Amino acid sequence: MKPVGPIPPEFAAALPLIAGRPAAAWVEGRDTPVFVYDLAVVRARVARLRAALPEGVAVHYAVKANPFPPLVQALAELTDGLDVASAGELALALDFRAGTAISFAGPGKRDAELEAAIRAGATINLESEGEADRALATASRIGLGPRLALRVNPPFELRGSGMRMGGRASPFGVDAERAGALARRVIAAGADWRGWHIFAGSQSLDTAAIIETQGASLVLAERLSEEAGGAPPLVNLGGGFGIPYFAGDTPIDVGAIGAALGEAIGRASLPGTRFALELGRWLVGEAGVYLARVIDRKESGGETFLVTDGGMHHQLAASGNLGAAVRRNYPVAIPSAPADAPPEVVSIVGPLCTPLDRLADRVALPRAGAGDVVAVFAAGAYGLTASPTGFLGHPLAAEILVDQPSA
Ligand SMILES: *Cc1c(COP(=O)(O)O)cnc(C)c1O
Repeated sequence: MKPVGPIPPEFAAALPLIAGRPAAAWVEGRDTPVFVYDLAVVRARVARLRAALPEGVAVHYAVKANPFPPLVQALAELTDGLDVASAGELALALDFRAGTAISFAGPGKRDAELEAAIRAGATINLESEGEADRALATASRIGLGPRLALRVNPPFELRGSGMRMGGRASPFGVDAERAGALARRVIAAGADWRGWHIFAGSQSLDTAAIIETQGASLVLAERLSEEAGGAPPLVNLGGGFGIPYFAGDTPIDVGAIGAALGEAIGRASLPGTRFALELGRWLVGEAGVYLARVIDRKESGGETFLVTDGGMHHQLAASGNLGAAVRRNYPVAIPSAPADAPPEVVSIVGPLCTPLDRLADRVALPRAGAGDVVAVFAAGAYGLTASPTGFLGHPLAAEILVDQPSA
């Protein structure tokens, strides 16, 4: 038997509730699978973060974590800005926010994408010298001033367990040694200079590592600003806040992060500069539950399998195939089973013809069979959007945003 990850506290009742209703009630009379996103959980995360952060530190939502339009709309209202990574995400963000509250990062921006961002008044986080040239050329061709920031490839990395110092080759950002010179060039070309974007990593559950990285990012921003000729309007410190997925994972301490950030900002000599954090997963990840139905129950080689209509084509990360070195179990439950159903050890698999399609491996769950509902928690970020939805041609999962007070 293998352990499962921790169910987020909002759902961790004996019979999991989503927004006050039994989880299984959300699929009654509808096709499965379905993702249910509980906006009350998102609101609570934003409120907790705002309470922890020093005055004046902006919170941005990284749209790629979950681009479901009603969720993006809600986050556009709850946060101070949207971070996008393609012209498609830019168009989505523009439905809900002014361009000036949008920043656009990501390598390989096409000229048409640069043009769309400049026309919208969005900040382009430049990823290379070549992209800087193309952005400036595009802006002069269309006769508009571009808002430009520079993404820096920092000489350090945010690690899940401590931070490894020392530079490393990267497709993201301009190496720190060359960033000051490029900023001077962009400023001299007459761009609306926005400042630095330093994103050092993702999904860290190590509070001390996040604090250390933010401190190092501020020191780097200060040094680069001296090289570039002065303090910029904005320093985007990235994010990287992780959420618990697996047995033994514990949440980060945002209170400690906010307090340390306040001290680090106080130490930095960046007069007039504003700061931002850009978060995806931490804001929405725990708010999502993926609900699938059991189609078949079978025995093989002495093991029991629950075969569901959901799987890696919607929830690749839970199958362990989205960048995981070792496959471990996400938090899962059988919300349709009576609480006193006898437990058994089962594996939950999807309908795809590949052994990779496994949502839970040898976990202890209440006995279930065809028609029962399986819930995969922590499914609100990098779920449907980061899964191979076309693989094997099964229907797309539905998505529902629930906006009502939790019971
Ligand atoms: C993906 C990404 C984010 C969001 O990362 P999370 O781990 O979801 O918080 C933020 N900024 C940039 C530049 C990104 O590429």
